Amino acid sequence: MSSSSIVIKGIGASPGIAIGKAHLLEQGRIPVPQYSVFGEEALKGECNRFKEAVAKAEADLEAIKRTIRSEFKEHAHLLEVQQMILRDRSIYHESLRLIEKEGLNAQQALLQSISKARELFSALNDEYVQSRMADVDAAGDRVLRILAGQENLALDTIQERVIIIAHELSPADAIQLQVDRTLGVVTEIGGSTSHTSIVARSLNIPAVVGAESSTKLISMGDVLIIDGTTGRIIINPTQAEVGFYSDRQIELQNYVKEINRKAHLPAITQDGHRVSTEANIELLEEVVAAKDNGAEAIGLYRTEFFFMNRVDMPDEDALYRDYRDLSELIAPGNVTIRTLDLGADKLSAWYPKLEEVNPALGLRSIRLCLHHRDLFKTQLRAILRASAHAGNIKLMFPMVSGVAELLETKRILKEVQADLSRKRIPFDKQMSVGVMIEVPSAVAVADMLAAEVDFFSIGTNDLIQYSIGIDRSNENVAYLFEPLHPAVLRFIKQTVEAGHKAGIPVALCGEMAGEPMYVPILLGLKIDSFSMNPQSLPRVKNLIRRSRLKECCRLANRALRLRTADDVDESLKKTLMRDFPEEVRVFDPNALRDGYALQRRSRKPASRKGSIG
Ligand code: PEP
Ligand code: MG
Repeated sequence: MSSSSIVIKGIGASPGIAIGKAHLLEQGRIPVPQYSVFGEEALKGECNRFKEAVAKAEADLEAIKRTIRSEFKEHAHLLEVQQMILRDRSIYHESLRLIEKEGLNAQQALLQSISKARELFSALNDEYVQSRMADVDAAGDRVLRILAGQENLALDTIQERVIIIAHELSPADAIQLQVDRTLGVVTEIGGSTSHTSIVARSLNIPAVVGAESSTKLISMGDVLIIDGTTGRIIINPTQAEVGFYSDRQIELQNYVKEINRKAHLPAITQDGHRVSTEANIELLEEVVAAKDNGAEAIGLYRTEFFFMNRVDMPDEDALYRDYRDLSELIAPGNVTIRTLDLGADKLSAWYPKLEEVNPALGLRSIRLCLHHRDLFKTQLRAILRASAHAGNIKLMFPMVSGVAELLETKRILKEVQADLSRKRIPFDKQMSVGVMIEVPSAVAVADMLAAEVDFFSIGTNDLIQYSIGIDRSNENVAYLFEPLHPAVLRFIKQTVEAGHKAGIPVALCGEMAGEPMYVPILLGLKIDSFSMNPQSLPRVKNLIRRSRLKECCRLANRALRLRTADDVDESLKKTLMRDFPEEVRVFDPNALRDGYALQRRSRKPASRKGSIG
């Protein structure tokens, strides 16, 4: 046990404490010898060596596919892409040609063919093809390791229970995380909405992301403590630290068990105010987790994920089946199906890359749908057909910026409805139609939008991005991503007031809704329904049940008079420590000692520390 430890600070991405040994992925370079092969026999032998390595890589990928957990089966195509790459002409045949004709050894032949493919891919100027380069590299590394006779350090080869450390986990890696072998996950890049974070949360594996330099500071086999709430990583902890965190781990597990037991109770405050607590999902399979965690409904189905990572556009029947199954699975609860929100960070294979300087401000989301009417109508038809079954589907349009856009969108919806009626295809004629409030212009005309829809849902992830003017995926300005910024709070308040004045409910479905510490302020701002990642539901519901609406309104009114996010933060932490000391103590005990620090997305350099926490 060490006498002084190193502490790294990242972003807490999936709550929980993990204590165990580090397992570094992609550790060390793969040796790539270079030599020439002469003579027919030797060349034949080298070709066979290459073919066998590819066959082994293929078989390994096949084996991994079999071990993928059922909820991630939809993602298995990520591994199939790697299998396809291994047999692609430009890689497989070209490598064999280079061995046979130029006498290169297998490793050099493979590297050269990959490098040629890279040049070709860059020249194509196609974002999808370029994004596949990471898969080409991953597939190439797999073969190179086999050729080098090196132990594969990939996730599928881990035998003991470890904390995984990686620069980044690709989506293909993330879906391979095995709960029984993964104590925790640390990555150097990524944010709380990155794929790794989402997968770790859904598997209840503690995770810290954005922990810069962790692959340099942590060595294979180092003992680590990671805290998925505070984002703290302790390398080679002292005995005192291990003791402290082991106690916390037990306390946390007991606390979580207790609140999970109550996850199905309704979210009613101490003074009788009821709010709806719902889940955000991206894939049909997540309905199970949503229900297990006490979701009363699906408040946001991000339909674009069904469209992403596939080479062609899904047809109307495939969409219809997906929506129908989802609606039947969650009934009698509702499901709010959001129409395609493609563009910016959500790209698909079949949609051509747009040359845009600012894709977040570009042809994305509802704008893209209005541009590609056939695509939009196909999705609307599928949603409407599915609505006939359980009658619980609500339709929601993302990124709407004003009334004209909304009226145009509704006109298309009416056209599709009329067409279905003409063809006597049933659909729910009473289906609620709502808009997301994600851009400041929508807030400014919220009263006018409210007259046109049945509900609002505030998308704070984008609303924060657009109102503060920061790219939500840009790490350099991540510290400015402030949910408690007075402008954001005012926008939420204005939206709620406009909605309520028109008699429509207002939901909030950005990440903010799933952050337990924002519960009092959002209740005080009169949000009617909270929609979040399924794993946050038990904690959020527990805090709602323990709150008093009257006090929350007082807190919100006070907060709305404060001038900076830090001031609001400060005021909030006082309330939290006063009203929910157990919650604060189990998730962040240092908060009680040092003052509560809500997770800010700051990038603090690694520091040397010897004390606990
Ligand atoms: C949001 O912007 O808050 C939201 C829920 O949508 P997404 O994160 O999918 O953009
Ligand atoms: Mg959004």
